[in-house]
Amino acid sequence: MPSVYIKTYGCQMNERDSEAVAAQLMAKGYTLAPSEAVADVILLNTCSVRDFAEQKALNKMVNIAAETRRNRPEAVLGFMGCMAQSRGQELIDRLPDVDLVLGTQKFHRAADYLGEILAGRRDKIVDVAAEQGSEATIREHLLNGSAKKTVTAFVSIMQGCNQYCTFCIVPYTRGEERSRGIPDIVAECRQLVSQGVKEITLLGQIVTSYGKRTISEKDGKSAFVQLLDAVQEIKGLERIRFTSPHPKGYGDDLIEAYARLPKLVESAHLPVQSGSDRVLKLMHRGYTRARYVGIIEKLRRARPEIGISTDIIVGFPGETGDDFEQTLSLAHEVEFDQAYIFKYSQRRDTPAAEMPGQVPQKVREERNKRLLEVINEIAGRKFNTFIGRQMQILVEGPSKKNPARMTGRTRCNKIVVFDGSERHRGQLMDVKITRAGSFTLYGDPAILD
Ligand code: SAM
Repeated sequence: MPSVYIKTYGCQMNERDSEAVAAQLMAKGYTLAPSEAVADVILLNTCSVRDFAEQKALNKMVNIAAETRRNRPEAVLGFMGCMAQSRGQELIDRLPDVDLVLGTQKFHRAADYLGEILAGRRDKIVDVAAEQGSEATIREHLLNGSAKKTVTAFVSIMQGCNQYCTFCIVPYTRGEERSRGIPDIVAECRQLVSQGVKEITLLGQIVTSYGKRTISEKDGKSAFVQLLDAVQEIKGLERIRFTSPHPKGYGDDLIEAYARLPKLVESAHLPVQSGSDRVLKLMHRGYTRARYVGIIEKLRRARPEIGISTDIIVGFPGETGDDFEQTLSLAHEVEFDQAYIFKYSQRRDTPAAEMPGQVPQKVREERNKRLLEVINEIAGRKFNTFIGRQMQILVEGPSKKNPARMTGRTRCNKIVVFDGSERHRGQLMDVKITRAGSFTLYGDPAILD
């Protein structure tokens, strides 16, 4: 049987989609190739959120095509995911060595289409059509393929986005919001827990919009909170996370869920995008700075230990120096534990791409640098306050940087590296924090009394 290599660009949703495709192909007898250099099938799962991510994937395919044409002309090359969806046939016109272009509602067709291409029945396949029910097709996991215990897993609860932020390409690449049913999601979570998973992250473009159009409110609880309640009941599951929510979706029912559900960890990724009300309005975000800060205050009252991370865009069209100062002041006011900062990138067919006042690249870079300094300084200070404290971690496996050491995560989503061994994998254990690095804590289980 052929071997496959999948390279993933972009967010956790993309990671999850790639895992599901890999699992689907393995169930058909494919093996996973350790690198593209030896694979019979090479798939790039792409991201369109910023131009940089698209260019990286395009350049990668140019190099792969040149190499395979020279040495392995029979290798099958494909694009999947967001850029495949938005560019479709154009990708094959531009790169004729590409055999397959698979859109975001078609991941589950990968095995069939590759089978047809490998058997020589079809030459090129482009499928970017919408498909009813595709939101429930991302369900296979790779747990069984690994001899090691998998401790954490991602579960896709919905697809698409109806928010239409003016900067964002996602509604056009992922389609309208479509949610799976609660029993279906819970069954997948139960199956994962029965295989040893201890922590589940519920995934969606905007998870707080989960089930809005298909599941009615019950006892004042939104569909998403009903789902959290149902997942909380799964025996053997230790922790629940979710990403990405939208600040607009933080009603009191969700804040209250943080106070009420012990498995829901003290961590929230709340993309703010800007500290200026004027820019938030231009972005079509649907909240003000005051509303955002109010949500954070409520969350901190419900769970004082909560770790808050965010996404911020600098250099959005029309962002003035004063608007940017307001973003800096928001960073000081909220004191994020972590923030992902993005330089605004013009995306085709999005309203912001046509807005007046496009900010020069140099200014975007300067703002990015200044904000990063502020975020890092605050996060560094916050990380130092953990030194000397005892914290519970869930041990995930060897540290990526130093496989001789183990790594785990606190409930508030801080990575902790410590001297441990394979027998710790999957354990909830207490460690004493001895040192703080940049966005990493170092702990010692031995010095606990
Ligand atoms: N659910 C998230 C939200 O509430 O907006 C969106 C997830 S999006 C895929 C990840 C992040 O990419 C966004 O939060 C935003 O900061 C960034 N992003 C999206 N479009 C962008 C653009 N055109 N330029 C720069 N950054 C962008």
